[in-house]
Amino acid sequence: MNYFDLHCDTIAECWKQGKDLWDNDLHLCLKRGAAYHPWFQCFAVWIPDELRGEEAYRYYEAVYRELLRQEQLHSDKLKICRCASDFQEVQPSGKCGALFTVEGGAALGGKVERVARLKACGVKAVTLTWNASCEIGDGAEVVHPKGLTPFGREVVRELERNRIAVDVSHASEPLFWDVAEQIEGPFLATHSDSRKLCGSLRNLTDEQFCTIRDRGGVVGVTFVRRFLDDSWQAGIEDVMRHIEHFLALGGENTVAIGGDFDGTDLPDGMTGVESVEALAECLLRHNYPETLVQAIFFDNAYRFFTSL
Ligand SMILES: [Zn+2]
Repeated sequence: MNYFDLHCDTIAECWKQGKDLWDNDLHLCLKRGAAYHPWFQCFAVWIPDELRGEEAYRYYEAVYRELLRQEQLHSDKLKICRCASDFQEVQPSGKCGALFTVEGGAALGGKVERVARLKACGVKAVTLTWNASCEIGDGAEVVHPKGLTPFGREVVRELERNRIAVDVSHASEPLFWDVAEQIEGPFLATHSDSRKLCGSLRNLTDEQFCTIRDRGGVVGVTFVRRFLDDSWQAGIEDVMRHIEHFLALGGENTVAIGGDFDGTDLPDGMTGVESVEALAECLLRHNYPETLVQAIFFDNAYRFFTSL
């Protein structure tokens, strides 16, 4: 099957734990994902909220070097997609197409000129915040949050100018609406579920989802157990419930997958990247048309990133 996943934390785990991306015991490795082709995978560098300034920037560089190292080590199996021709080249090659993404604008170390560095590294999307505050604005877990700072507004302008996608997963509500107001084109939420079904502040309200839909953006439904159900008890059917809800909001061109492998506890019935097929089969068993399943698992995200 075809697969395009908008978020995982695997590359930083490889770096921290000294694991190999081809074969490991993490949620995701290239070997277990090899059944998917074409397969595009966003590999994020997550910037922990304890890191700010130059320390955050150095962390970003270290994880980027790890992705380069893994690409060199497995050049027949992994290719970083930087431009349109890379996307085309990967499709028939059987390689995993890696999109490098940044989870936490703190990676810039407070310097807007670093957006150019991100561009040079081939970064395809930036999640503006993690859960706390950073130079750009407030994340989802800030009490009485505010939106974009003046620096944050500058960063969003630079990202747009450089055609790096703006990701509002982890954003507080004021930050989300500031982005929606400032940005002209589409933006995305790489790994968020529906707040109507589970009250986590990391999830999107119907209004937020519809705003992303209307802009031509995408939303990656995520496998994070505590975003799927308020009881934190969740199975593969709960992922389907969130997909179903977003589809009911007219999301057939908006819903995608952003599993969050190696960044979370997975729901019952899922062990890692190898379980994605079971989720697709679950949808097909529930009479989802094949074209819709293909849109959710691949086409919507592919269209978004190739039209940036
Ligand atoms: Zn995250």
